[in-house]
Amino acid sequence: MDTKGKYDELNFTIPKGSKEEATSTAIELVERRNKLREEEWDYRTNRLRTPEVKKQLEDNHFALLDSWEFALNGLFTDLFKKQNLGLQQVIARNNANIFTTPIAVNTYIDSNFKSWSKDMIGYYVSMLTDFAYYQAEVLLPENFQDGTYTYEKVTQRKNKEDIINTGFNPSRAGQGQLPVGNLKYNREAIAYANERINKSIPDMAKTSKDRFSRSFRRSYDEAISKGLSGSQLTDYVADGVRGTLSKQNLNRGLMIARTEATGLANYGRKVGAKATGLVYTKQWITSGDAVVREAHMSLSGQEIDEHKSFVYDGYKLDYPGDYSNGAPANLTINCRCWLEYHEKRGI
Ligand SMILES: [Zn+2]
Repeated sequence: MDTKGKYDELNFTIPKGSKEEATSTAIELVERRNKLREEEWDYRTNRLRTPEVKKQLEDNHFALLDSWEFALNGLFTDLFKKQNLGLQQVIARNNANIFTTPIAVNTYIDSNFKSWSKDMIGYYVSMLTDFAYYQAEVLLPENFQDGTYTYEKVTQRKNKEDIINTGFNPSRAGQGQLPVGNLKYNREAIAYANERINKSIPDMAKTSKDRFSRSFRRSYDEAISKGLSGSQLTDYVADGVRGTLSKQNLNRGLMIARTEATGLANYGRKVGAKATGLVYTKQWITSGDAVVREAHMSLSGQEIDEHKSFVYDGYKLDYPGDYSNGAPANLTINCRCWLEYHEKRGI
């Protein structure tokens, strides 16, 4: 194609329908395409920042999170109930003996908690899967159209198998388009869930032992001061311990569910974001309505590249609830913060 001299000719008046007019239209087309490209990037990098979308994202995150907190609380509450029953049996077997009972109880608690991990792993991996699907769906523009879907909070108890196999994210069922599979086939996700369980079980066991020891002592001393002995003493101590622990366990299940849910939700979202293959940033969001600890208030709104970590007080946090880099419990327990991911302009 001969283009020689064309640009010189643009300085002259161009007759309509001429070859020269076609050239100027081509330049306009390129400019228009560039402008569209700019607008598209502008849309893609900012589409999750409008107040309406942010509100919906918060609602969806909490609908899913609350459903899981409810399920995990149910799981932990059941497990603590069984544990409490087991403790009653240990007390009875040892006739509430002040020397042998605590030793037998410690052994029982350790072996009881070992059996928890089997139930926990199924819930954890299912929750990670739900949140990975959720995040991939939000971040991929073709899947998330502003305001087109909302999640419902599930507060009816579902059976274990359903929780483990289908979770609470409706788009997980029969979802072929998202680049996320069931994370029970994902080595990293399973390793993460196991790591969390291996970290939380010893903590829970220690608390169980401490609480048992205190309530056992108190009930035993009361029984002695009442002049009880034999089976009366055993019954009195067993009742006292059961009453105290079951009351404490009500809050305990929820507290553990909440702490675990935040870490799991955020890790699941991280897996989902990564699966999209897009370039993105992550932004720390604090829940507006709840009590937000001061530490997280200062992280609120911070936005960093995907591979960087948030830093507070010298501790690195990859996401809210992350204690893998040594963040102490007071930075992760009972936290309800989360990350939003924003697509970042590529080249
Ligand atoms: Zn927080």
